[in-house]
Amino acid sequence: MANSGQKVVLITGCSSGIGLRIAVTLAKDEKKRYHVIATMRDLKKKDKLVEAAGDAYGKTLMLLPLDVCSDESVKQCINSVKDRHIDILINNAGVGLLGPVESISIEEMKKVFETNFFGVVRMIKEVMPDMKKRRSGHIVVMSSVMGLQGVVFNDVYTASKFAMEGFCESMAVQLMKFNIRLSMIEPGPVHTEFETKMMEDVAKMEYPGVDPDTVRYFKDVYLPSSIDIFEAMGQMPDDIAKCIKKVIE
Ligand code: NDP
Repeated sequence: MANSGQKVVLITGCSSGIGLRIAVTLAKDEKKRYHVIATMRDLKKKDKLVEAAGDAYGKTLMLLPLDVCSDESVKQCINSVKDRHIDILINNAGVGLLGPVESISIEEMKKVFETNFFGVVRMIKEVMPDMKKRRSGHIVVMSSVMGLQGVVFNDVYTASKFAMEGFCESMAVQLMKFNIRLSMIEPGPVHTEFETKMMEDVAKMEYPGVDPDTVRYFKDVYLPSSIDIFEAMGQMPDDIAKCIKKVIE
């Protein structure tokens, strides 16, 4: 349970990557300012987080199951937080999808929107009433540079982040009236499993009916240059975690 003076922070998607490092960084805060509720959809994946949290596990860090695509799971998770009191919500969970629209089914596209867009909307809708009552709170949303600019064969992922940016920009003004802050984080490439999954998607990619010049551009220009950018400028999940710590301070 949180000590008085500690802020309750709930983070989505803590089984790996950026979410895991945000949870550990905040739980290990030198002044113990945060009581971290690290959530993941499958608690069987908790070992990496528990190991990285070390002594903080069970003290400043606790775990809860949460699938942002399920109304019921979102409700259950927030209801199990004492008094539903969350000071800071960090919407980190997200999925990527790379490939030409021609080869992706509408069902696959909907799954991306279910997580990256409706997942965030669900969480905000669930925590907002209590934040409004207390007239305080901070909602952080993990967007991407691809929430600002379209990128070849990232059409659906990009669209899901654009949608979230639009939703959050509109909400921010309304939340401000209740003293609730809304911050968007827009990282460039970060070395996580996201990158690994992206390369797996590339290996399986098919290009039915796609203009051959676009395929050539993707394979010969875009892909090698994005690998170069990852290698030269890719950030580590810890860099993003430190950035978020600054944002919520
Ligand atoms: P990872 O794939 O390492 O982590 C994604 C996390 O989201 C995992 O914990 C995953 O859980 C979780 N997740 C997926 N679907 C759900 C769901 N329905 N409910 C709850 N959790 C879910 O990737 P990153 O750490 O890189 O990604 C984190 C965020 O950062 C994403 O929003 C991504 O869009 C964004 N981002 C990433 C960049 C990058 O280059 N890596 C760049 C810019 C933004 P599970 O293990 O169960 O799949």
